[in-house]
Amino acid sequence: MKAFEYANPTNEKDAVAALRVDGRIVLPLAGGMDLIARMKDYVTSPDRVVNVKGALDTTIAATPDGGLKIGAGVRIADLAEHSQVGKLYPPVVAAAGEVGTPQIRNAGTVGGNLNQRPRCWYFRQEEFVCYKKGGNRCFSPAGENQYHAIFGNDGPSHIVHASSLAVPFTAYGATFRVVGPNGERIVAAADYFTMPTLQNVRKENVLADDEILTHVMLPAPGNVRSGHYEVRYKESHDWPLAFTTVVLTMNGTTIRSARVVLGAVAPIPWRSTDAEQALAGKPLNEATAAAAGEAAVRAAKPLSRNGYKVQITKTAVKRAVMQIAGLKPVTLRA
Ligand SMILES: Cc1cc2nc3c(=O)[nH]c(=O)nc-3n(C[C@H](O)[C@H](O)[C@H](O)COP(=O)(O)OP(=O)(O)OC[C@H]3O[C@@H](n4cnc5c(N)ncnc54)[C@H](O)[C@@H]3O)c2cc1C
Ligand code: SF4
Repeated sequence: MKAFEYANPTNEKDAVAALRVDGRIVLPLAGGMDLIARMKDYVTSPDRVVNVKGALDTTIAATPDGGLKIGAGVRIADLAEHSQVGKLYPPVVAAAGEVGTPQIRNAGTVGGNLNQRPRCWYFRQEEFVCYKKGGNRCFSPAGENQYHAIFGNDGPSHIVHASSLAVPFTAYGATFRVVGPNGERIVAAADYFTMPTLQNVRKENVLADDEILTHVMLPAPGNVRSGHYEVRYKESHDWPLAFTTVVLTMNGTTIRSARVVLGAVAPIPWRSTDAEQALAGKPLNEATAAAAGEAAVRAAKPLSRNGYKVQITKTAVKRAVMQIAGLKPVTLRA
């Protein structure tokens, strides 16, 4: 890999200062599970790497409103095993526990997971200079787009967002604390991830080059019931093909309102208002679950080779709702 400078700040202020070098590429390093691989493959070649692990909070603490504040330095393995997270937000633990392998979860952090770059195989190959690497084309529409988006496909990029944690965080209405040279700002998870445009295509979120994500704040969940369902290729350690977190507010046995967020199907965690509308006001049963699955994919626009994702997204939503209802799928088909 290209030689680089290394900074090792021990607090947020010094970390932000170390990220400011005009005209040069400077990147924060957390667990390195994504960044080091990109550097080794010459996909990303920073002039300076700022190790933020010593500057970030590594704790999970209760907040006065009954929610939780999760440091960006918390390891994914610790998140997956945290009893309060599991009690209050079961989909967060479910998503964290499925990330990669035990080794990846032991090294990878919450902040690194949320800010990891796309897995698009063109992006990951040095030779393919696509929009995201400063080029003037996207290779996926006419290429191998099996794992690309089925929603939000207006371009210029057709990635799916790679973070498994982003989906339950968005479904629970989390907010993110970001620090930069002008202090801190709080950004809703729903506003943090950005759809690609020609102006911002090289990024996946609103973070400026000299800002870091420091905390995830989860509000008190309230009286909700939740489900999380991931469809993967066999039981492999690879990223899910499609998944969802569903959060329901109940009124007795009737669903009062729903939050349905889909993962691995769009450039951002994709909120399905169609599925939410199909759930609101309905009894919690298999027929409602099936209707929500159908509604979730009504607006899907698959590319040439990923039509199969429509079916598995439908199935994921149906099964997440059935999970909440305590029902098992009768067959292996949706
Ligand atoms: C085989 C394999 C399977 C995987 N499967 C999954 C999966 O199923 N689901 C999933 O979600 N992920 C999966 N991953 C990805 C993995 O979870 C991420 O690579 C990891 O979480 C990144 O965390 P990290 O701390 O190592 O980040 P790093 O590699 O250190 O950083 C990742 C990126 O985020 C930036 N960054 C890091 N911390 C911050 C911060 N606090 N603020 C701002 N920017 C920051 C870095 O500059 C870098 O660009 C998999 C990875 C592998 C190799
Ligand atoms: S989908 Fe995005 S990352 Fe992949 S080739 Fe197209 S522009 Fe590049």
